[in-house]
Amino acid sequence: MSLPESTTVLIVGAGPAGLTAALSLAHHACRDFVIVDAVVEGQNTSRAITMHAATIEALASINAADGLLSRAIKGKGIRVATRSSEIIEARFAPLKEHTVLGQELQSLGVQVQRPHKVVGMKQNEKDPRITDVSFEDGQVISARYIIGADGARSTVRSIAGIGFSDPDGPKLAGDPIAQIVNADLTFDREPVGVQTIEGHLNATVSSNGFFFLTPFGTRFNAELTRDGKPITKPIFRIGCAVPLKNGEPPHAPPREYLQNLIDAYGPVCISSDPSINPTPVKVDQLVWSTLPWAPCFAASISSFPNMVVPPSRKAVLSLYACTLRTAKSFSSYNFRNYFVRRTKETFRGMQTEQDPNRLSQAYNDAVKELSVLRRSAVVNQLYGGWRLAVEEQSDVRTRGDT
Ligand SMILES: Cc1cc2nc3c(=O)[nH]c(=O)nc-3n(C[C@H](O)[C@H](O)[C@H](O)COP(=O)(O)OP(=O)(O)OC[C@H]3O[C@@H](n4cnc5c(N)ncnc54)[C@H](O)[C@@H]3O)c2cc1C
Repeated sequence: MSLPESTTVLIVGAGPAGLTAALSLAHHACRDFVIVDAVVEGQNTSRAITMHAATIEALASINAADGLLSRAIKGKGIRVATRSSEIIEARFAPLKEHTVLGQELQSLGVQVQRPHKVVGMKQNEKDPRITDVSFEDGQVISARYIIGADGARSTVRSIAGIGFSDPDGPKLAGDPIAQIVNADLTFDREPVGVQTIEGHLNATVSSNGFFFLTPFGTRFNAELTRDGKPITKPIFRIGCAVPLKNGEPPHAPPREYLQNLIDAYGPVCISSDPSINPTPVKVDQLVWSTLPWAPCFAASISSFPNMVVPPSRKAVLSLYACTLRTAKSFSSYNFRNYFVRRTKETFRGMQTEQDPNRLSQAYNDAVKELSVLRRSAVVNQLYGGWRLAVEEQSDVRTRGDT
């Protein structure tokens, strides 16, 4: 399908971030936007096992949560256990997000344009405020704003030179979630065990990482079936952290690979090993399995130069002023107060620091934190809620930042 020649906002990527951005624009009465995705419908399925309550709250602020909640399994809880004993039980809510957000957008009359893969971006020759975005098939859209919602290995971000560095630093080697495999599957017979009861997310932890099991029952069978083969047995979603020592998982791991993961790391009740499970079960149908988690822990931490000379007092004060301004720009009362307090504490510590190396380190850390804080403040402004009871009230209900 051919794309329009120009638009105010071009959203690249129709994953959760792109779809939410589109719903957000529509909610705020901006209709002059185009949303594109590189793949055809259904190829980039949801990898989520659970959705955090804060995500639902953010979606609710743009009226996009109801459809999701009506089709979600509202979690009764999360159970964390080892293979032999229970550790903790807490509340959670497993959901399935992509399709619902896409349908929500469709109901507002917006269609994701597929398959259109962005391959280039350059400033428009006549108007420097406009960017010409080119696609694999040769089409070009001129847009005033571009939202790069094209995932972890974003083309838009890399062409625009927007770096990303994990604020906690590169830590791939010891990270238990460095590579994760997700899959929906059925078993040859119904597994027996407390972890198979619908409504709970079960995490089995071990020294190798963790294994998630979410029983879906049969309620999603029709919508999860893609290859035309009907599925009648209950579907289970699994998520397994694959230890780095096992090597990289294959793309769309097959049944045998998943069976091995289950037997090695899953809860006993879904193991096929009769020596540990009195009612052993085997993977029967594989509905889908994901490509593994591909973290982009950019090694660009080094883009913040190691300062040998300690920062000047003027530089520290200027950074303090900037950080405080950013902290105060949070919409939500709780975030705002927390970050203002934290900023003051951090810089008070820097004021009394005598060691030049430690001062340099603290300064560099504060620079990194500022960039994270800025991003977080913008997101918080987009989804700022109503004033809390502890804030000064006016006659009409107002947002926390008005
Ligand atoms: C194994 C696994 C398990 C996870 N489990 C959970 C969970 O339980 N709960 C949770 O909240 N999150 C979970 N996540 C994280 C969640 O999937 C991501 O945070 C989320 O998908 C990020 O959304 P996104 O829209 O930024 O990117 P993506 O979902 O990656 O979407 C990016 C979109 O952009 C498109 N695109 C890419 N390049 C281009 C291009 N050049 N031109 C046009 N389109 C392009 C892609 O086709 C894709 O549709 C999990 C992730 C993985 C990998």
